[in-house]
Amino acid sequence: MKTWFITGAARGLGARIAERALQAGDRVVATARDPSAVTMRFGQRANLLAARLDVTQPAQAKTAVQAALDQFGPIDVLVNNAGYGLVGAVEEASAGEIEQLFAVNVFGLLAVTRAVLPTMRARRSGHIINMSSIGGYRGAAGFGVYCATKFAVEGLTEALHAELAPLGIHVSAVEPGYFRTDFLDPTSLKISQPAIADYAETAGAVRIRVDGLNHQQPGDPAKLAEAVLRLANMPAPPVRLPLGADTVAAIAAKHARDSEILATWGGLAADTGHRAD
Ligand code: NAD
Repeated sequence: MKTWFITGAARGLGARIAERALQAGDRVVATARDPSAVTMRFGQRANLLAARLDVTQPAQAKTAVQAALDQFGPIDVLVNNAGYGLVGAVEEASAGEIEQLFAVNVFGLLAVTRAVLPTMRARRSGHIINMSSIGGYRGAAGFGVYCATKFAVEGLTEALHAELAPLGIHVSAVEPGYFRTDFLDPTSLKISQPAIADYAETAGAVRIRVDGLNHQQPGDPAKLAEAVLRLANMPAPPVRLPLGADTVAAIAAKHARDSEILATWGGLAADTGHRAD
C-alpha cells in the first residue's frame, strides 16, 4: 500500500490519478486550492486526506506535507500535477501572464518538491512524478510560454533523476498529448489578448483549433491514470513517459528534424573545439 501526494487533485488528471490510487487501496493526500472540492468529489474516506494547497504558496506546501506525514506517515509518490495552459503567440503574452504561468507550472512544482524531498531522502525511497507535456519535448506555435514552463519541468526532472537515483528515489516526467479534461476550457486555459494580426496563420490558428478541441481531445484520462499507476509500481521507471498517440507522433517528427539538423550541420557543430597543435 502506497501513500500518494497529488497536487491539483480536485479535477482533471489529478482527480483521475487520485481516484485510481484510491481504487487500488492506496492512501491518497489529494491537495487543491479548495479542499472542499476534493471532499465533494470523493466523499470522506479513511484512506483519503483532502488538504489545502495552492502551489504558489510555499508555506501551504510545508503545512500540507506535514499534515500528510501526521495522518499517513511517509509519502511514497509525489505527483506534481497542478498546472494550466496559456494560448497565444509569445509576443502576445503579457509579462503578468508569463510570471503567473511560471509561478504555478515551475516554481510551484519546485516548492512542493522541496517540501517533500527531505522525507524521501531520509528514507532513501520515493517516486516524484512531474506532469509535463508533449509541449515539454517540442515547442509549438501558440503555446510558446506554456512549452517554456514544461521544458523547465523536463530539465528539472532529468537533473533530479540524476541527483536522486543514487539515493534510491525515482523521478519521472509524464508527457501527455491532448487528454479530455478542462485543460482547454475557459475555466482553466488562459488566452492572451489582444491577438496580433501578423500571427493569424500560426498562433491565431491554434486559438481556433483549441476552441474546437475543448472536451473533444483524443486522450482518455482514465487510461492516463492507469498508466501513472503502472509507472508508480515499476521497479525501474523511465525518466520520461510519453502518453498519447499524438505525443508519439510529435516525438518521432522532432527526432526526424533533429537527425536532419545533425546530418546537415553536424560537421560545423563538431568543428568548434581548440586545435590540438
Ligand atoms: P485541468 O484544468 O482539468 O486541471 C488542472 C488542475 O490544476 C485543476 O485542479 C486546477 O485547480 C489545478 N491548479 C491550477 N493552478 C493551481 C494552483 N496554483 N495550485 C494548485 N492547483 C492548481 O487540467 P488537466 O488536464 O487535469 O492538467 C493537469 C496537468 O496536466 C497540468 O500540469 C497540465 O499542464 C498537464 N497536461 C495536460 C494535458 C491535457 O491535454 N489535459 C496535456 C499535457 C499536459
